[in-house]
Formats: sequence, C-alpha cells, structure tokens
Amino acid sequence: MNNRIIVFVVVGILLLQCFALAQNVVIVVIDGARYTETFGADSLYIPRIWTNLRPLGTIWTNFRNDGITTTDPGHASIATGTWQSIDNNGVFRPAQPTIFEYFRKTSGAPESATAVVVGKLKLGILSYSTHPDYGAKYKASTSFGKDDTSVVRNLKTMFRQNHPKLTLVNLPSTDLAGHSGDWIRYLSAIHVADSLIFDIWQTLQADSLYRSNTTLFVTNDHGRHDNLHGGFKNHGDDCEGCRHIMLFAIGRGFPVNTVVTKRRTQCDIAPTAGELLSFPTLYSTGTSLLRDTATVQR
Ligand SMILES: [Zn+2]
Ligand SMILES: [Zn+2]
Repeated sequence: MNNRIIVFVVVGILLLQCFALAQNVVIVVIDGARYTETFGADSLYIPRIWTNLRPLGTIWTNFRNDGITTTDPGHASIATGTWQSIDNNGVFRPAQPTIFEYFRKTSGAPESATAVVVGKLKLGILSYSTHPDYGAKYKASTSFGKDDTSVVRNLKTMFRQNHPKLTLVNLPSTDLAGHSGDWIRYLSAIHVADSLIFDIWQTLQADSLYRSNTTLFVTNDHGRHDNLHGGFKNHGDDCEGCRHIMLFAIGRGFPVNTVVTKRRTQCDIAPTAGELLSFPTLYSTGTSLLRDTATVQR
C-alpha cells in the first residue's frame, strides 16, 4: 500500500511538471501608448486587437502604472512584480529578481528558454537583476531591434530557433513617434503595433509547440500626458494619461470575450506569469490576474 501511494505521488509530480513545462508566456509591451488611443477608443486605432483578438481573450479597463511612468522603471516593474524606482538611462538593473531569474532558478531551464526582445538598448537591464540570490547566472537571452518591425522579426526568429517559454517584448516605435510631437505619426505607429501583435498571435497559433498552451499579454510601460498635463508628446508624471494603460490577455488561463473592471497594476503581471509557469515570485507585491476570471462579460 505504501509503495502504491509513493507511485501515485511520483506520477502526480511528474504530471504536474509536464503540465508546467507545457505552458508558455509572451508579454508584449507597446511602449508609451496612452489608454485613450487603445481600449479607450475601441477599434479606432487598434482594429486588429479590438476586432480579432479581444473576443478571444480578457481586457482590463482599469490597469495602472502606479510607479514611475518612464520606460525602464515601467518595464522593470512588469518584469519583477515590484515598483522599481531605477532611473531611465539603462545603467541600473532592477533590484528585485526578474521573472526570468525566478523561472530559471526554479525550473533549471537554460538561458535560451527565456527571452528579452527589445527595441531600446537601455532595456538590456531587463535580462537580470542585482539581487544577491539571483543575477546573471539566471539571465534571459537578449535581442535588440531598432523599431517594431525589426523587433518582431527578431522575435519570430527566436520563436523558431529556441521556442522560449517566457518572453518579454518591447515595441519601441509608438513612444518614439509620440516624442516627435507628430500626432498622425503617433497614431500610425499604434496602428502598426496593432498589426504586429495580431501577427505575433497568428505566428503562435501556427506553431504546434505554442498553439494550445501559450498565454499572450499586451500592455504598456506607461501612457502619455493627458491634454490637461501637456498632451501626448511626453510622459513621466502622475497624471491620468501617464498612469492609465492597457492590459489584454489571450490564451491559456483567460476566458474569452471578458472585461475586467477591477483595478489592477503592472505588479500583477509577474505573479501571473509565475502561476502559469509554476514558479514563485517571492518578492513581488502583486497578485495573480488568474483570480479575475469571475468577471463581467459583454
Ligand atoms: Zn516607454
Ligand atoms: Zn502625465
């Protein structure tokens, strides 16, 4: 009898590990898109996400950056599940462990199983933290592109060659267009990012190793000033335009055609990735978004 119990436990553990290993997470950040130009305008500027993807997934309508509303802190808060007050010049790494370090330390997965695919050199800091129990030993593989199109090209190459299980993507062009002060250029950059995200989802669906076991998140590092605080050209303070951002999740773990109105923040993404990939996020101050499945549908 004792032997049978041991066999059951061992088989159970192996099955749990198989389930955990089968899951993949991809987080795509549209750099500096303001909510009023994403879900706040329905299909107007993001027709693919709104019309093709939204019915297949879950959107959050009150998702926030409660930390510093610039690029490196915003991304670092997503990657660590803690508010990171690092500066924005790419010199300093996050102080708390990233999801890549948690995942690799827990699972023993190789560097190639994790990927940071970004369009700004200063986002190289996301590959690992300065935390003494983690660090470079558990770093993610890193790839740099110069604009959204080259970042997605790099991403697809990485999907094909390594099939990473945990990937963080930065699409830089919307932010760069916003800073130019050219409204039409800003809107068309959002439109391109929207098409590329649809392309990423279709690429995942065409790949047998990703098709049925991958969760894709789409979010922002920060918004941009609302019209009462200087308008879309810049960002970085605590105005509503800078703080209110989008979050969309599609794929394993999230219900279709669902709207969550509950207030959530960037710190909740890392523990969600942890729950999906079965690793604890020990220092995160957020809570998993998988708790939000009892929601309003429309
Ligand atoms: Zn940014
Ligand atoms: Zn602002």
